[in-house]
Amino acid sequence: MLQLKNIGLLSTYNSTTGSFENIKNCNIDIENDIIIDIGENNNNGDHMIDCNQKLVTPGFVDAHTHPVFKNGREKEFIQRISGKSYEEIAAKGGGINSSIEEVRESTEIELLDHVKKRMDEFLSMGTTTIEAKTGYGLDTESELKSLRVLDHVHNNHKIDIFPTFLGAHSIPDEFNGDSNAYVDLLCNEMIPAVSEQGIAKFCDVFCEEGYFDLKESRKILKTAIEYDLVPRIHADEFSNIGGSKLASEVKAISADHLMEISDEDIELLSNSDTIAILLPGTTFFLGKEKYAPARKLIDRGVHIAIASDFNPGSCHIKSMPFIIGLSCIYLGLSVKEALKATTWSAACAINEEERIGSIELGKKADLIIWDLDTIEQIPYNITSPPIRNVIKNGDPLISLD
Ligand SMILES: [Zn+2]
Repeated sequence: MLQLKNIGLLSTYNSTTGSFENIKNCNIDIENDIIIDIGENNNNGDHMIDCNQKLVTPGFVDAHTHPVFKNGREKEFIQRISGKSYEEIAAKGGGINSSIEEVRESTEIELLDHVKKRMDEFLSMGTTTIEAKTGYGLDTESELKSLRVLDHVHNNHKIDIFPTFLGAHSIPDEFNGDSNAYVDLLCNEMIPAVSEQGIAKFCDVFCEEGYFDLKESRKILKTAIEYDLVPRIHADEFSNIGGSKLASEVKAISADHLMEISDEDIELLSNSDTIAILLPGTTFFLGKEKYAPARKLIDRGVHIAIASDFNPGSCHIKSMPFIIGLSCIYLGLSVKEALKATTWSAACAINEEERIGSIELGKKADLIIWDLDTIEQIPYNITSPPIRNVIKNGDPLISLD
């Protein structure tokens, strides 16, 4: 048994009471990878970690990332800061197209190497579970290869990865803008092959002007549902072409981005089980001004989660503490709301809330031991709130020996 003793403050959402909870002066007992006791009792563990009266929270769940690419796109970042827009760079063959070329040419081993390193960084910043999308292969073999990479890293890395098939990320160049033909390939070949491979849990689509329109997005997600993939959707990011409407229509587990969501669509989401995943890092990284209307969404009763949107183009940010900081500054969230949105609600957004996302008896021991006293100090130390240790599946990242 592992015991975390002398915890000054344990801060977590509690799914039984439905509220945020602060417990002072306690211990957590962990058997294998499960939390078996939280309290003042002083059981003797085989291994002890003295938390020195500091803060303990659940590990972060990042419910929206795109980590399967080869190299970074810092050259494009330079073009953007010199005044070119993301859309202009993409139109000139940069952007996502350059990542696609590299993924298609890379071996599985080369990709593995890059993805593993990224996961090391995620974990060191307290992210213990991650949703990860493909979408830089965009042909059947390269998408299946990307999913195999995610599966391999999931099985050989401490971090847990929940893979999403995002073949509908963009229309690859060889289709010369013939989106119908690519949607046919997606529905008739790629989705059946992904389902047969059995790694992906979710299917996502980029429902946006110049990418996949409403009709195409509906066809892709309905096909995915037939093949037992859970639908999720990039909706209302640059324009509102009906993405979040479609999310509630097909009962998507999440509708993500939502900078351009209308009042009417907020109403639809509030009457659905779809979770709104907000990605403030993208607005920030693109130097834009319009953030998702988080307060309005919360006030109308929409369940929101917050994620990083880590990807090589529009948001090269892995740090969930930094994303929490942005959520407090630009989305108007309280620190408690931001912490709930990056742990419990994010776990709901990948269907894993029974196992992770909060510190409760019977749940997996995915925890962060901070060198901080309160949760308010997380966004206050926005670039590098100090972490003493991360516990993943009951196993400390920084070894006790
Ligand atoms: Zn995305």
